[in-house]
Amino acid sequence: MKLRVGLLFSCLLVSNSFAQSQGETLRVATRLVKPFVIEEKGSLTGFSVELWSEIAKQINVKTEFVVKPTVKELLASINTQEAQLGIAAISITAERELQWDFSQPMFDAGLQIIVPSQTSESGILANIIAGVFSPTFWQLIGAILLAILIPAHIVWFFERRPVGGLLANKSYFPGIFEAAWWSLASLAAQADQMPKSAAARVAAVFWMFTSVVFLAYFTASVTSSLTLQQLRGDIKGPEDLPGKKIASVKGSTSVEYLRQRNAEVAEFTKVEEAYEALQHGQVSAVVYDAPVLLYYAAHEGKGKVQTVGSIFRKENYGIAFPDKSPLRKRVNEVLLKLKENGTYEKLYTKWFGGSS
Ligand code: GLU
Repeated sequence: MKLRVGLLFSCLLVSNSFAQSQGETLRVATRLVKPFVIEEKGSLTGFSVELWSEIAKQINVKTEFVVKPTVKELLASINTQEAQLGIAAISITAERELQWDFSQPMFDAGLQIIVPSQTSESGILANIIAGVFSPTFWQLIGAILLAILIPAHIVWFFERRPVGGLLANKSYFPGIFEAAWWSLASLAAQADQMPKSAAARVAAVFWMFTSVVFLAYFTASVTSSLTLQQLRGDIKGPEDLPGKKIASVKGSTSVEYLRQRNAEVAEFTKVEEAYEALQHGQVSAVVYDAPVLLYYAAHEGKGKVQTVGSIFRKENYGIAFPDKSPLRKRVNEVLLKLKENGTYEKLYTKWFGGSS
């Protein structure tokens, strides 16, 4: 019996190494995260994908990528053996090391903050234009017009009779303009004359109190929106994150970091959704992997966002394997070789410019 099991085992080993020399196919879990893994015309590219292709070539295996929506699901698929390893922008952490094995560090990373670009004039102009064309702006204008025209009509109606009253003209035109001017002046607490007729005075008293409330409301909303803007523009580094609404990516190390920092976290599956939330002013900043944010700030996000502070909470990316995977050693050897023979450097320059 023992012999049979032993035979079967060695047969498996032989067939395994035979498969490898023939180009065994490995299922590799990954996740789209620009510029490490990018989907282009139905196939995958990016720094991590190209690095893996080099490794796969050297260890003589074929690859079948399994794309997962979050890092958590990517790592879980290694546990369930849906994939034999994972490569994307996976940070090596103490907690993950308990469940998975990681390769040698394949990329120096860390976290970084981006905020909307404050220097871009086009950004300021775009904000003003967006403000003017927003429905809220026109609703406000409509409400003010209505609020001026109603008392103007009441005052015109009662004030056209008394001689020496508020209005010099008794006809509707231009009398109504004078009345509207008075109601506008009262709204801004600037009216220097008051109606003479009793009925118009009653209406004027109501109107004056309304203006007091309106002015208080107006002052309060301008003050609070200015304070809000100041608060939003206040992020200069990780120490300013507590209490702020910050966007990040579901299942990533940055979410944990933000929670520890007591920030209010808005989680998105794709980092692109976090960029959008930032553009729409729904969050004060995006905190995420530095290489990803830097790449965005230099490409699609150029002029729209800026990084603040330096890279904090340094991390390394690694290739994830199931615990005690025999593949790890082979991959590590090749990874080190690629760093030594300049292939890694070439890839780095291609995707990030400069040197690693
Ligand atoms: N590097 C981060 C992590 O491993 C984020 C990666 C990602 O969102 O793809 O948690």
